[in-house]
Amino acid sequence: MILREKFINMKIKNALIILLVSVPVLLSAQTKNKPAVLAGVPRPKLVVGIVVDQMRWDYLYRYYNRYSTGGFKRLLNEGFSCENTQIDYIPTVTAAGHTCIYTGSVPAIHGIAGNDFIIQSTGKSMYCAEDSTVAAVGAVSDAGKMSPRNLLTTTVTDELRLATNFHSKVIGIALKDRGGILPAGHTANAAYWFDDKSGNWISSTYYMKDLPKWMKDFNDQKIPETYLKNDWNTIYPIDTYAQSTEDNNIYEGPFKGMTTPTFPVKTSSLYKSAGLGLIRNVPAGNTMTLDLAVAAINGENMGQGDNTDFLAVSLSSTDYIGHQFGVNSIEIEDTYLHLDRDLATFFTYLDAKIGSGNYTVFLTADHGAAHNPQFLKDHNVPAGVWNDASVLKALNAYLLDKYKIDGLVLSMTNYQVNFNYKTVNYLHLDQATLKKDCIDFLQTDPNVAFAVDMDNAQTANMPHELRTRILNGYNKDRSGAIQIILKPGYFSGHSTNDKGPTGTTHGTWNPYDAHIPFVLMGWGIKHGTLTRETHMTDIAPTIASLLHIQAPNGSIGKPVGEALK
Ligand SMILES: [Zn+2]
Repeated sequence: MILREKFINMKIKNALIILLVSVPVLLSAQTKNKPAVLAGVPRPKLVVGIVVDQMRWDYLYRYYNRYSTGGFKRLLNEGFSCENTQIDYIPTVTAAGHTCIYTGSVPAIHGIAGNDFIIQSTGKSMYCAEDSTVAAVGAVSDAGKMSPRNLLTTTVTDELRLATNFHSKVIGIALKDRGGILPAGHTANAAYWFDDKSGNWISSTYYMKDLPKWMKDFNDQKIPETYLKNDWNTIYPIDTYAQSTEDNNIYEGPFKGMTTPTFPVKTSSLYKSAGLGLIRNVPAGNTMTLDLAVAAINGENMGQGDNTDFLAVSLSSTDYIGHQFGVNSIEIEDTYLHLDRDLATFFTYLDAKIGSGNYTVFLTADHGAAHNPQFLKDHNVPAGVWNDASVLKALNAYLLDKYKIDGLVLSMTNYQVNFNYKTVNYLHLDQATLKKDCIDFLQTDPNVAFAVDMDNAQTANMPHELRTRILNGYNKDRSGAIQIILKPGYFSGHSTNDKGPTGTTHGTWNPYDAHIPFVLMGWGIKHGTLTRETHMTDIAPTIASLLHIQAPNGSIGKPVGEALK
C-alpha cells in the first residue's frame, strides 16, 4: 500500500525533493531521528525480536494486575496482540520453536526436528546446534562447538541481510546457545551465548576469530557474580502472591543445597558450589541477557545506520525456572514480575537510544508449559506422567520376544519411535509389519491416546488438527517413524517417589504447550488485538512484510496484515 502510493505520488514527491534539497538546513533537521529509508523504502531503524522461553500466552493476563505500565502492559496497551497464536507442529520444544518463529517454517521443512534428534540413516543422536568443525571464541569450552549448520532454511534475519546486501547487522543473544544461534540464521554477524564454566558470554569460530572489544569489556564486568551475590527474594511480600500455590509444596524442585523449594533463594552461598551457571535458574539470568542486549546495541551502533538492524534476543531463565517449579509457583509468578520490570527498563532505553517510534519490537515464545501432573490430580483434573524409558524397555522386550532380535528401537526421543535401521536393514525386516507391531503394543498403553505411523499420518483416524501437527513436525531424515500422542495432561517423565516428578515440561500439541503470545509494538505497528487464529509460522512473514523483504525460503506462514499500518 505504501509503495503503491509512492509511485502514484511520484510527481508530488519529486517536487518535494527539489524543495527539500534547496533547503538543506530544513532537510537535516527533519531526517534526524527519522526511520532508515533505503532507496525510498520505509523501514524501522532496528527490529528487536524477544522470545520468552516457555511463556504461556495466559501469563500476559495471569499476572496483569501486578505488571508495571512500561513492560508487558505497554506492549498490550500500545502494541498489537495476536491473542490466538498456535504452534502447528509437534514436538513443541525450544529449538523447533525458535526456528519456526524466525523461519516461518516447520520441522518437516526446516530440519530442526527437536532439541536433539536422531539422524535416521545412521542412528546418531544430533544436538540441534552441534557443529564439531567449529570451536569456542571467548573461552576454552566445548559449549562453543555450535553453529546454525543443521538448519536447512533461511531465517527472516537472513532475508534482511540478503535484501540489504549484508549492510544490515544481525545479532542473536541468549543464555542457551540454540536460543541465539537459530534465530540469527546462517548469515548473522554474530550469535552469543553463556558458558557456565568460565561465566563468559561466548561465540564460535563460525562467526568470528575473536570477541569484539565491547563483549570482552562486558565479560570483564563479572556480572554473573555480582547478580548471584544478591539472593533471590520476592518483589512483593510473599503472602501476597495470590496467583500461586503456597511456597512450600510437593510440586516444586528445590535448588541443590536446599531442602525446600522456598524463598529466599540464597544464591550468594549456593553459587559457590553450584557454579556461575546457577544464574540461568534465577530471574537475574534474564536481567543479564537484556544488559547484554543493551551492550550489543551500544557496542555495534545498532539502529544508527542507513539500514535496518535486527537483534534477536531470547530470555531463557523463564524456561529453567518453569521446569524446576512449574506453572503454579510463586517462583514463576515472581520471575514474570522481575521480567516485566526488566522489559520496561529495556524499552525506556530503546526510546532514548533509537528513538520512540523508530524501532519495532515483537515478543513471543517458543512453547508454553503444562501444569504439574500431581498438582492437577490433587485438584481432580486427569493428568499423569508417562515413563518413556520404561516403555522403551518394554517395547524392546516385546520385539525381542516376537522377532528374537534385541534393541530394535533406539530411543523414544520427542515422543517418537526411532528404529535401529542398521539392524532392520541388515536383517531385511519388513518395516510396515514392524511398525504395525509397535503401534499395536503402544496402543495397549492406557496413557497413549494415539500411536501413528508417520508415513500414513495423512489418513490416520484422528482429528485433522492433530494430523496437521504430526505432518508438520515429521522430518523423514531426522524424526522417528511412529508418533506417540499422550492423553491431555500427560507428559513424559519419571520420579523417584510416588508423588510424581516436580516442576513441569512441554513438548505436546495441547493448548498449554502450543498457545503462545505474539505481540508487536512500535514502528509500522497498529494498536489493537486480533482473536482469529494465527500461527507461529506467521511471525516471520509478518516481519518480512513489515520490512518489505522476501519471506524466508521455507516459510509456509501468512503475514498478519491486521497488525501492520
Ligand atoms: Zn524453550
